[in-house]
Amino acid sequence: MTQIEKMEFKTELKQLLHLITHSLYSNKEIFLRELLSNSGDAINKIRFNSLEHEDVLEENKDWKIRLVLDKDGKTLTISDNGIGMSHDSIIENLGTIARSGTKAFLEQLQGEEGKTRPNLIGQFGVGFYSAFMVADRVDVRSRGPGKPEDGVLWSSDGQGEYTLVSSAKETRGTEVILHLKNEEMEFLDPFRIRTIVRKFSDFVEHPIVLEIANEKKEEGKEEEVLNSRKALWLRSKNEVTPEEHDSFYRQISNDFEKPLKVIHYAAEGTYEFRVLLYLPATLPMEFQFGEVKFGPRLYIQRVLIMEHCEELLPSYLRFARGVVECPDLPLNISREILQQNPVLEKIRKDLASSVLKTLKELMEEDLEKYRGFFQEMGSILKEGLRGDFDNKEKIAALLLFSSLNTPATQQISLQQYVQAMPEGQGEILFLAGESRELVENSPLLEIHREEKRDVLLLTESIDEFTLPWLNEFKGKKLKAVDRLDPEASDKGILEETKSRFNPFLKYLGETLSGISSARLTGRLKDSPMALVSQGMSATQERFLKRIGKGAPEIDSKRVLEINPRHPLVNQLRDIFEEKNDDPRLAQVSSTLYDLALLAEGSRPKDLGEFMKRVQESLKKML
Ligand code: ADP
Repeated sequence: MTQIEKMEFKTELKQLLHLITHSLYSNKEIFLRELLSNSGDAINKIRFNSLEHEDVLEENKDWKIRLVLDKDGKTLTISDNGIGMSHDSIIENLGTIARSGTKAFLEQLQGEEGKTRPNLIGQFGVGFYSAFMVADRVDVRSRGPGKPEDGVLWSSDGQGEYTLVSSAKETRGTEVILHLKNEEMEFLDPFRIRTIVRKFSDFVEHPIVLEIANEKKEEGKEEEVLNSRKALWLRSKNEVTPEEHDSFYRQISNDFEKPLKVIHYAAEGTYEFRVLLYLPATLPMEFQFGEVKFGPRLYIQRVLIMEHCEELLPSYLRFARGVVECPDLPLNISREILQQNPVLEKIRKDLASSVLKTLKELMEEDLEKYRGFFQEMGSILKEGLRGDFDNKEKIAALLLFSSLNTPATQQISLQQYVQAMPEGQGEILFLAGESRELVENSPLLEIHREEKRDVLLLTESIDEFTLPWLNEFKGKKLKAVDRLDPEASDKGILEETKSRFNPFLKYLGETLSGISSARLTGRLKDSPMALVSQGMSATQERFLKRIGKGAPEIDSKRVLEINPRHPLVNQLRDIFEEKNDDPRLAQVSSTLYDLALLAEGSRPKDLGEFMKRVQESLKKML
């Protein structure tokens, strides 16, 4: 390549550049964090390769990132001796936008969240392009392992085009030269740069050194290294200050807030390993965008082996972030080997217990704070009920639920529920539905209200798919109140009443097409009828249909329970006994059935018919 290549950014990238320069403005110093972390990654990439290709790397193994401030040239340069980029990879990496993280970032900025929670923007690795917040031109000179002639120079003003030309480069690596905007000269101030590096990049593992261009080097003066590079997890617990934790956490998580909890310990015994985990106070932004890589960083002898080691953490604890260092693993370990490694299995169990224990302590020490955490992370935690058999009971103890006897703004734990159970109540009762309002109005709660039993109100769709996996808590079985339960329904119903109602029930079972049968119940107080399910609940069915998993075969027919003490029911039965083809019979029973469907959150099967019938009866009323 001799001539200059002129190319356009892909359209999405143009959009992104525009958004970044306009939206991230208040946090613009994060451009430095992004560029430094790219340099750190580039060094790690070549260093891992160097385990395989010693010879490629004889040159230049003094891993280092340089920041050069040039007041006269008005440039800030970030250079590294990492893996570098070839002509093709520079086009691929700096001219397109393939990364899902960046896409998610774009979407978020365009959505409401971008406007209302500007802090969250910083949670995304926005990457290289953030350089254009402070620079009106960026040059990138780079080359991979090879010859000086292989070097390339990429250049752009961030407006939609970039140029590429070959440009000899003596050493392997990348040099990012920022031609600072006139109003951004603060980034030439050594003091400002020191502060930013310490704030965001103190724990980058390679030295970041500061140089002032055209400054005479004093004899014997050492390079100024800006970052402390302290591996916090290798120090003992009481040696690390809260400020250091905050700063490290921010660096590895991109979160702007402090961590809610720090878990820091060294395990000794058969296997030795060190753990430094942080629990966030709010749900990490990227969790809202589908697939997320999770798991702590894995270090072996201070070398970063993996950015996210999923084998180290059960996914229902994926909100926890941090580092695990395990000296017992071989340095050249591969992902496949990792998966079968007994050490990892052991660490994973250990981390799970530690996180659960920490949450339990938080719940006991500061319930308000815990509530805040649960609000954000609770639905993830619940996944553990079906995923982590050994810890089921511990996870259950951490869950909070709304309940019939608890004000709508509050939630209770299973422990609190069990403690408040009146004598004689053997089970933990629950009812699921899409909202508290819906569930609260269910006729199936009437008897529990009257007999002063509390019922958990499950309003998250994940609840009904996870809570039943628990089976029991503290020896008390869990029980859904909207299931067919002949014993409970028969209570208070006399044999004589049963035989009096039998023909009528049979009639209902045959004429109402949506049900499998009708039966009497003592469970209702004020309502004439209610539906109960035999298999999947109505809420579960609706959920599965919503996510496209619904099929006619899962639409199990429900049982209609009839309250024999209700005047409407009695009148209807009388009509049936007198003249079983009286047109009012079909009209009223269909309408009552439709109301029962509405009460469980479903829709009448024929909405048009239902409305017509209601209007007819209103007409008669007037
Ligand atoms: P990210 O780092 O999140 O992938 P960036 O936009 O920051 O996104 O960078 C895009 C890609 O450009 C990187 O993935 C990397 O392959 C390449 N890159 C960026 N900076 C460097 C560098 N200093 N040395 C080598 N490659 C780099």
